[in-house]
Amino acid sequence: AFQKKFGQNFLIDAHVLNKIIASADITKDDCVLEIGPGIGTMTQYLAEAAGKVVAVEIDRNLIPILSETLADYENVTVINEDVLKLDIAKLADEYNQGRPIKVVANLPYYITTPIIMGLFESHVPVKSITVMVQKEVALRMQAGPGTKDYGALSLAVQFYAEPYIVANVPPNCFMPRPNVGSAVIRLTLHENPLTTVKDESLMFRIIRASFNQRRKTLLNGLNNSPEIAATKEQIQTAFEKLGFPANVRGETLTLKEFAALADEFAKF
Ligand code: SAM
Repeated sequence: AFQKKFGQNFLIDAHVLNKIIASADITKDDCVLEIGPGIGTMTQYLAEAAGKVVAVEIDRNLIPILSETLADYENVTVINEDVLKLDIAKLADEYNQGRPIKVVANLPYYITTPIIMGLFESHVPVKSITVMVQKEVALRMQAGPGTKDYGALSLAVQFYAEPYIVANVPPNCFMPRPNVGSAVIRLTLHENPLTTVKDESLMFRIIRASFNQRRKTLLNGLNNSPEIAATKEQIQTAFEKLGFPANVRGETLTLKEFAALADEFAKF
């Protein structure tokens, strides 16, 4: 039986599986961490393509099934654990001599974004993350300035990685069918940071404040935010210094512009 609490919708479409493997760009030199292998359908594809696969599955009822499906593959290790409790840096050490690993996952949607952000923020050695997400989430991750999907999630993801939507995946590619559309997105981590910023946490507070108040100008959004300790005059001075119009809106600013703004605010 499928475990609802673990968000189990199993991918059954071979075309989509092949597309994920191709776009995750996996070679025999790679060590892949698969999060949530389920019954091991994608794991077999990964095992064919990769040098090593470490598959972490929380549901112990699936472990005997996984052992059976994967019996012919010598390069697969299955770990019965909650990925949120796993030390990924240690795993990269153990299975890939500390070199960056590639992450592939089809997880319950409610934990996908926290897991991705956790991987980014902990600076563990990860080269890319190829994941199935809700279609809307994929569009938000990939959106650029001035578009309707652009927001705090776009900036948080793009600060760390380059997003690329690999495929749209309709509900009938899964069993049982989810009630939302899905998409596979590949996030390739920047080798060198796109933008440097003195105080990352301040930058993300500014970003959140400016998107929390979408109908307001950035000046009013920041001025009314309890998270930002700056006076109206200070904000205006920063805008002038950076050449932003007085009525600038957060939705139009690039990551680099938010970083420049945060560097000005850091001086207050
Ligand atoms: N990857 C498989 C597929 O595509 O057919 C299964 C996908 S299913 C949506 C999600 C899988 O993630 C389930 O097997 C579930 O038990 C597992 N899972 C859920 N939460 C997890 C966690 N915190 N750590 C590891 N695995 C988890």
